[in-house]
Amino acid sequence: MNIDQSKIPQATAKRLPLYYRFLKNLHSSGKQRVSSAELSDAVKVDSATIRRDFSYFGALGKKGYGYNVNYLLSFFRKTLDQDEITKVGLIGVGNLGTAFLHYNFTKNNNTVISIAFDVDENKIGTEIGGVVVYHLDELEQHLPEDVTVAILTVPAHVAQSITDRLIAKGIKGILNFTPARLNVPDEIRIHHIDLAVELQSLVYFLKHYPNE
Ligand code: ATP
Repeated sequence: MNIDQSKIPQATAKRLPLYYRFLKNLHSSGKQRVSSAELSDAVKVDSATIRRDFSYFGALGKKGYGYNVNYLLSFFRKTLDQDEITKVGLIGVGNLGTAFLHYNFTKNNNTVISIAFDVDENKIGTEIGGVVVYHLDELEQHLPEDVTVAILTVPAHVAQSITDRLIAKGIKGILNFTPARLNVPDEIRIHHIDLAVELQSLVYFLKHYPNE
């Protein structure tokens, strides 16, 4: 079941949770198959639309049989679960970057670092925390289209040029751990975290406003 999800129209994708909920109920009541007419009645979508939607999932109903409930359910599970996870690329596998790769974020939310880049030959090709490190020269080649967020943990002087390349490759949001102020188009979101500044500011507040 290898479906290219970028080919599923948005209108169809929006109906997925509706179909999914109904099919789950059918499944728990022990039903193996369902016709588009039954589905149509239950979810209030006309059966021609349902047939067209399902054809995108590779589910071709058979006349007189309908659709296989198990097949549809496993498709929906896969698709909807994937939708919830945001894949992140990490650039710069130094001390901080390495810590992020080990930590990854799967325990507390639905983001996962799925790929990393560096220029250090000793790191290229290694796997850290289960994430493969590629050479930055191969960014354009290896950064998958579904990675839309990047974490920047590189030296400040290379941050802007890497940012430009990330944006050209389709990155929409950057968590910037470098001290560099990045210039980006309006539609790109940058969150800037300078750990040294944060720590300094904490110490300053403790010293000067100890009781607030
Ligand atoms: P950190 O700042 O994360 O503690 P560090 O002190 O180990 O890291 P830095 O010099 O800050 O090292 O570099 C962070 C990482 O970025 C290193 O692994 C380095 O190899 C990598 N790096 C340096 N230049 C580039 C670049 N142009 N592209 C990608 N990675 C780079």
